[in-house]
Amino acid sequence: MIDLHCHSTASDGRLTPSELVARAAAFGVTTLALTDHDTVDGLSAARRAAAEHGMTLINGVEISVSWQRRTLHIVSLAFDADAESLRAGLAGLQRTRDARARLIGERLSRIGLEDGFDRATALAGDGQLTRPHFARLLVEDGLCRDTQDAFKRYLRPGKPGYVAIEWTSLDDSIRWIHEAGGISVLAHPFGYRFSGAWRRRAVAAFAAAGGQALEICTGRSNADQESQAARDAREYGLAGSLGSDFHGPEQFWLALGRLHDLPRSIPPVWEHENWQPNR
Ligand code: MN
Ligand code: MN
Ligand code: MN
Repeated sequence: MIDLHCHSTASDGRLTPSELVARAAAFGVTTLALTDHDTVDGLSAARRAAAEHGMTLINGVEISVSWQRRTLHIVSLAFDADAESLRAGLAGLQRTRDARARLIGERLSRIGLEDGFDRATALAGDGQLTRPHFARLLVEDGLCRDTQDAFKRYLRPGKPGYVAIEWTSLDDSIRWIHEAGGISVLAHPFGYRFSGAWRRRAVAAFAAAGGQALEICTGRSNADQESQAARDAREYGLAGSLGSDFHGPEQFWLALGRLHDLPRSIPPVWEHENWQPNR
């Protein structure tokens, strides 16, 4: 059982890397890729835990990319985690993330949230500081009813606490991945709220930039989406990947490793000529 997309506390997941690996093992997963957002910090702990459970751990990371004023997620798999350009690129993305959080803190101070950045940093602990942390503070201070209300009034695009962010480019992300010997995967093609035309445009741009695989089966995909994604993959000569995008047990509707099989017509990413899992 293979799952090539999930998150730990190194980014916005609920479980530590070792808890995540233990849970995956309990669900029968034999090959797991940990793909935290823009960081490889969880990989060494996950690798130790995987060894204890006799599981194969694939190096992974989910890179945030800005493309046509939209955000795409590019999963990188089976790369050398010490490769310099990938490391430097991810460090740059972390700085971008940090700068955005500081700006959000400043913006929200104007509507009465005190010490937003420092308090959100404390809430995030070792994990990544994200907008939901600010949402929790807005609720805590009585400025919003609940976190949904906080997003609706303050944190969404066009609202006072929203800060647009410029991630890395599609070309750069794919270059980092390939220089590190990894496989590039366009994640969850139905996860962007794109129209069909925009989805196909994104797949085409990814393939034109040298991208190698498309995530066809996810924890949320239905059979219809999977067959559309398989058609896209065939059209652009991409391999197929699959992953739950598990963030934590509170997402009771999705489980590690519980995925449909890849369509037979699509070559799986683990049979790609550049796939070297053990490093
Ligand atoms: Mn996430
Ligand atoms: Mn994603
Ligand atoms: Mn993800």
